[in-house]
Amino acid sequence: MDLTLLERLVDAHGPSGREQAVADVVRPQLEDLCDRVAGDPMGSLMGFRDAADDAPRLLLAAHMDELGLMVTAIEDTGFLRVLPLGGWDPRTLISQPVLVHGRTTVPGVVGTPPVHVLSDADRRRAPLIEELVIDVGLGADDVRALVRVGDVVTRDRPLRRIGDLVTGKALDDRVGVFVMLEGLRAAGPCPWTLVAAATVQEEVGLRGARTVAHRVAPAVGIAIDTCPSGDGPGMTGGGTRLGDGAAIRVMDASAIGHTGLVALMEQVARDRGIPHQFHASGKGGTDTQALQLAGTGAIAGCISIPQRYGHSSVEAVHPGDAEAAIALLAGVIECIDQLETAPG
Ligand SMILES: [Zn+2]
Repeated sequence: MDLTLLERLVDAHGPSGREQAVADVVRPQLEDLCDRVAGDPMGSLMGFRDAADDAPRLLLAAHMDELGLMVTAIEDTGFLRVLPLGGWDPRTLISQPVLVHGRTTVPGVVGTPPVHVLSDADRRRAPLIEELVIDVGLGADDVRALVRVGDVVTRDRPLRRIGDLVTGKALDDRVGVFVMLEGLRAAGPCPWTLVAAATVQEEVGLRGARTVAHRVAPAVGIAIDTCPSGDGPGMTGGGTRLGDGAAIRVMDASAIGHTGLVALMEQVARDRGIPHQFHASGKGGTDTQALQLAGTGAIAGCISIPQRYGHSSVEAVHPGDAEAAIALLAGVIECIDQLETAPG
């Protein structure tokens, strides 16, 4: 499949609260695929395909933001200190190339002391984020001319292929944004009003999806996001494997999928011969929760793309799973009026 758009999405830099570069890629796509596009004050984008005025609304949500870091201090050595934007494992940041988004974009590395000077105790423990420094290779005066406190830092890891997979930063959740856009492209008419939202600030607490869901007041909300694949090193559950298809997310720590919506996803996948699998875990969360809990509540669920090495610099997914997720999403868009809901 053509991964050009996925590559453009992944390679755009947009940590939580600074999603504009990603929105610049997404907006023209939504303009092509929808009747109209609107933004909200936080920066989320919504593409509308309008049906009759009294039609129920189906809201799709995929988040544009990626994990990042924010500069908290510039030391006299020229090193930058940072705080996390989102849920990092600091071990995955060690020795990584990064970009500091200052007055210009400045390349840097995450520096740690060399192993030779570490105490035995320090060799056995993970560093804290506060102990890491960003080194941009310049003295303090030159750094201060380019960078200020509050500037953000992202991973410098363009998308690349490894074997059957693609790997890079921010596949969480640019692959979800990609699936949402390609699902819109593939789908026939939706019997309901369809709203596709590229949301902001998911990684810091599902914030963008919350305001979008309040605005749209959907009858049904579907998030599209990655899930931890069960076949990575050290993984013991979750139920999915890379390459086995789209993941119908039944449960995670943030939301339990609506049984009728889970059943509709399964039915669509079976009817259309779409490879699919199920994800159930007591950990992790997605925009699904914000969709489900908005207003007086909505029917909500999530289509996931299994991912290894989530929240690291080498996140990895199988393009075939994205392709299956696109087909599944398109089918659900077309068949949403077949949703069976509990009476009442
Ligand atoms: Zn995500």
